[in-house]
Amino acid sequence: MVLTQNSLSTSTHHQQTSEQTSAWRGLIETYREYLPVSDKTPVITLLEGNTPLIPAPSIANRIGRDVKVLVKYDGLNPTGSFKDRGMTMAMSKTKEQGAEVVICASTGNTSAAAAAYATRAGIKPVVLIPDGYIALGKLAQAMLYGAEIVAIKGNFDQALQIVREMSEHYPITLVNSVNPYRLEGQKTGAFEIVEQLGNVPDWLCIPVGNAGNITAYWMGFCQYRSVGKCDRLPRMMGFQASGAAPLVSGHPVEHPETIATAIRIGNPASWQQAIAVKQASQGEFKAVTDAEIINAYRILAAEEGIFCEPASAASVAGLLQVKDQVPAGSTVVCVLTGNGLKDPDTAITNSDSQMQKGIEPTMQAVAGAIGL
Ligand SMILES: *Cc1c(COP(=O)(O)O)cnc(C)c1O
Repeated sequence: MVLTQNSLSTSTHHQQTSEQTSAWRGLIETYREYLPVSDKTPVITLLEGNTPLIPAPSIANRIGRDVKVLVKYDGLNPTGSFKDRGMTMAMSKTKEQGAEVVICASTGNTSAAAAAYATRAGIKPVVLIPDGYIALGKLAQAMLYGAEIVAIKGNFDQALQIVREMSEHYPITLVNSVNPYRLEGQKTGAFEIVEQLGNVPDWLCIPVGNAGNITAYWMGFCQYRSVGKCDRLPRMMGFQASGAAPLVSGHPVEHPETIATAIRIGNPASWQQAIAVKQASQGEFKAVTDAEIINAYRILAAEEGIFCEPASAASVAGLLQVKDQVPAGSTVVCVLTGNGLKDPDTAITNSDSQMQKGIEPTMQAVAGAIGL
């Protein structure tokens, strides 16, 4: 195009409109044709999704044999976890159906996402949390987004039982991952990975708590294969914390324990679906210890520059545990489900970096402090 004075002004105008139309519009608008929404569904969005797939060369080096490792950093969603993918769908459908109150049980991230999206929709959010087992950042979010917070003297599994009953007895919509719209939204993580890689990875490593996300990712990969967006399916590798690993042992854990509070779950809501995913994908469930989780958490931050929360690091901890089984030359994606800023206490407790305090405010003193 020849740039005359006139066309310059129109081209500037065009540039603006095309920027607007090419800008990310959130999951529902982007993947509308694959989601159970209609023209009548009000779209409740914070422009979630579209998170980066970041190469992790330091992890790959530990495996060797030309294995490529990438992390899907879903901690960059609007409230800092993948739960936003499910919540944009669940809250849009709740709004469409006219409910005025939503409820969820949460180890933290679901409550943060539910509170944010409910507020956005003009719906009242009520969240049940296990008293004392919720990371600081998550509690801070639910409080500031304005949720009604009820801390119970019990664990997540008990909280989920209560909210399930409440949604049957009162006009309140349940937005835990047993709400099918949650998984519909979360499957878009798989769509993005296929688009970012140009195909499916050979392995998908993912932390497993209630097993909603592993189920959703599998749905997404299968749906994309059925429309020809990819030509095969990945092996699904689900990792649980060893103190909360019912899918590994085959029976519920009455008193789940782990530093990774987001997966401190003893009786997964999507148990049957998770077993089906494992079988269909020839995948595996494995347990990782808290020490392995913290090791992966520290490697990700200190060597890759990626700060995720402890539960998220379970995917990388698991990959490192089974690294000898990874076929040479294959591509592995680890899902990093939540942002490290969610849990500052665990970061500070498990860091070995030294902070020098009380240094005089002079250049000499600072130079001396760092050994110059
Ligand atoms: C919710 C959550 C998980 C577990 O996902 P499920 O769908 O319950 O298996 C893992 N990591 C983080 C950070 C979470 O918030």
